Amino acid sequence: MGDVVRLNARTLKLELQPTILVNLIFTTFHERFPFWLSDLVVRAMFTPLLSVGDDLAHRILYTPLPDATQPRARPPTLNTASSRALRRYIQPPLEADRLHGRLEQWKRFWKARIPHPARTIWWRAIHGKIATGQFRYETWRVVDSPECQICLAPVENIAHMLFLCPQKRLAWTTYLAEYTNKSQWTDAELEDLTSLSRRIPSPKQQHNITAVQLFACGLLGIWRCHYAFAMDGSDFSTQVCLSHMRAHIRRTIAQNSVE
Ligand SMILES: [Zn+2]
Repeated sequence: MGDVVRLNARTLKLELQPTILVNLIFTTFHERFPFWLSDLVVRAMFTPLLSVGDDLAHRILYTPLPDATQPRARPPTLNTASSRALRRYIQPPLEADRLHGRLEQWKRFWKARIPHPARTIWWRAIHGKIATGQFRYETWRVVDSPECQICLAPVENIAHMLFLCPQKRLAWTTYLAEYTNKSQWTDAELEDLTSLSRRIPSPKQQHNITAVQLFACGLLGIWRCHYAFAMDGSDFSTQVCLSHMRAHIRRTIAQNSVE
């Protein structure tokens, strides 16, 4: 929308300056010599802009709308652009950082055949909307400390809650080593798995599962294990996490073989 507003403002500025000047001259002139101007001329003088006879509307309607994604294509104008082209033109560009991703990456995200709860958790992680210790302490103010209840690290942020808490980290690296050929992971690499622009390592060929499904099942397993501990007081350990992660991925592999 910003480009359209700027475009219109620029056009208006060019148009208004001579119009105001002419109106001032004629108004003054008409006050002194009213009989010199016919009613038709007087009405035309005070006709608002963008009305019949004014070519500003025409100019705006025929202003080219360049499309950055198709620089060689002949640009449409406001009156010829399809609604889709118009939407693309006025839509602010999405940031290509890890939080937002590009449009095609978001399409892949929504189309991925992954458990729905996993997609919800992933989406919330991308947008920083997970009730971590830090979030409950700083935003909700329902706890006295932002620390991790599992390892007592001073701050439980999203990266810590989903990947870096030591027992969860070990669960992730074990799980990923079982299903991919990558066994060594840095903290940054693990944390970056939620990024839509991050390419998740392909699973080993014998597993009938996609890389996105592999990650989503791991994420869901960690989440379920965490909440069983936090809400139900269940035991928390790397092995419990792994059993959740493996259960989800086995279920997904079974579904893949049926479809
Ligand atoms: Zn921890």
